[in-house]
Amino acid sequence: MEQIGFLPPKAAVLARRDEIVGDLLDLLPEGCLVHETRELVPFETDAFVSYRRVPLAVALPETTAQVAAVMKYCHRYGIPVVPRGAGTSLAGGAIPQEDAVVIGLSKMSRILDIDFANRTATVQAGVTNLAISDAVSPDGYFYAPDPSSQLACTIGGNIGMNSGGAHCLKYGVTTNNLLGVKMVLVDGTVIELGGKALDAPGLDLLGIVCGSEGQLGIVTEATVRLIAKPEGARPVLFGFDSSEEAGACVADIIGAGIIPVAIEFMDRPAIAICEAFAGAGYPDDVEALLIVEVEGSETEMDDMLRAIIEIARRHGVKVVKESQSATQAALIWKGRKSAFGATGRIADYICMDGTVPLSQLPHVLRGTAEIIERHGLRVANVFHAGDGNMHPLILFNANDPEDAARAEQAGNEILKLCVDAGGCLTGEHGVGIEKRDLMRHQYAEVDLNQQMAVRAAFDPQWILNPSKVFPLEGRPAA
Ligand SMILES: Cc1cc2nc3c(=O)[nH]c(=O)nc-3n(C[C@H](O)[C@H](O)[C@H](O)COP(=O)(O)OP(=O)(O)OC[C@H]3O[C@@H](n4cnc5c(N)ncnc54)[C@H](O)[C@@H]3O)c2cc1C
Repeated sequence: MEQIGFLPPKAAVLARRDEIVGDLLDLLPEGCLVHETRELVPFETDAFVSYRRVPLAVALPETTAQVAAVMKYCHRYGIPVVPRGAGTSLAGGAIPQEDAVVIGLSKMSRILDIDFANRTATVQAGVTNLAISDAVSPDGYFYAPDPSSQLACTIGGNIGMNSGGAHCLKYGVTTNNLLGVKMVLVDGTVIELGGKALDAPGLDLLGIVCGSEGQLGIVTEATVRLIAKPEGARPVLFGFDSSEEAGACVADIIGAGIIPVAIEFMDRPAIAICEAFAGAGYPDDVEALLIVEVEGSETEMDDMLRAIIEIARRHGVKVVKESQSATQAALIWKGRKSAFGATGRIADYICMDGTVPLSQLPHVLRGTAEIIERHGLRVANVFHAGDGNMHPLILFNANDPEDAARAEQAGNEILKLCVDAGGCLTGEHGVGIEKRDLMRHQYAEVDLNQQMAVRAAFDPQWILNPSKVFPLEGRPAA
């Protein structure tokens, strides 16, 4: 798997390595710069582990002012910078290049302000996603976007990738729950966008920053929306004899105007993998499983479930299993949320992240199966069905270069299928290096040029996370 390229390292930067390290040591407090090769190795990749590059150095600042000082220095000397949270990106968004200084936000992990009157939390960028909900849960609140990696991933990384999760069907993804950021621009200037109020006049720069994959600046603080916990929540399992019927059922539930909190899909291989890991009580005699979670008062949940079960019956549902306790509900979610980790126990895999209009789910599921079969591979499908955000996990053997190349080729074909069905290349994992060269399949040249012009307005030299998101060829000269 080496056809994905990085920009060639800048020889002038590499030649000055020792001098750069010395200067950075002067700019940062003791213990805030990693520069010995063996200590740099943990930063050479992210969760898209197929590609690796050991960076020049890793700065671990403790304050916005230190981030700004390092940025200003790198900008002055044209040194590439790669922002990094927890390094859980599945698209290679946080993989560095050899001449880059990584700026890791892990030491900036304080919750700065919790404001229940305005229902907001202001946190440093290195705070983990789950830590926000943990901090406000005793008072009956939570932070809605819930990536399965929420124990580890940071709010800065969530903003970088506009991350989502199982419960985003009702509450939206990061961009819908982000109110403001403090951000360091490429030249070290610190700006603030948004705030505690609902909306801000002028261009929606906050909207552009969310999902910008570390290419517009480095977020050091974020203000996010808190949501009051519902009275109750109930996940229900629906088993079907075919993936197509399950997919069609999802489209009909949403089409009927019912919005559960979550609708998650698993096919037979995914059910088996997750059940073996979590003992979640998933049925073993169905081809596809939906986890549908409703929330509200007992009466509201009963009413919604009655309507959903009626729709599922029209699609020949074989198993309907309501969770009977909080423990059972937690187990059902444990199974789903462990899907990636559980799959990693049995095989190497790459996780695709295409999104399609709901009406296209059955068609794309069929097409995915055909592509996988043609390449002689195996797939486990587990995804946010209510959002049409598909995650085929393509299983392969990373020690076999031909198998790996087949997996990558199949993944590209599946993403193109999603785009051709009216969808897009990414629902929540971002473009990174993984889908960079497929951007031409999604966008016309003129659209791509306009996006690159916006990016260049923030970073004319293209030093922020430079190898990512946009195809390497056809970029404006930096
Ligand atoms: C097991 C597993 C399950 C996952 N499940 C989900 C899921 O359900 N939903 C989902 O959306 N994703 C999921 N992911 C992907 C990943 O967790 C998300 O993309 C997450 O938001 C990355 O956060 P991070 O802190 O690890 O960021 P990193 O991986 O370190 O960085 C991600 C991107 O953001 C940029 N970045 C990081 N910090 C900053 C900052 N402070 N300012 C500016 N840019 C920054 C980086 O340069 C990079 O481009 C999963 C990953 C794994 C390994």
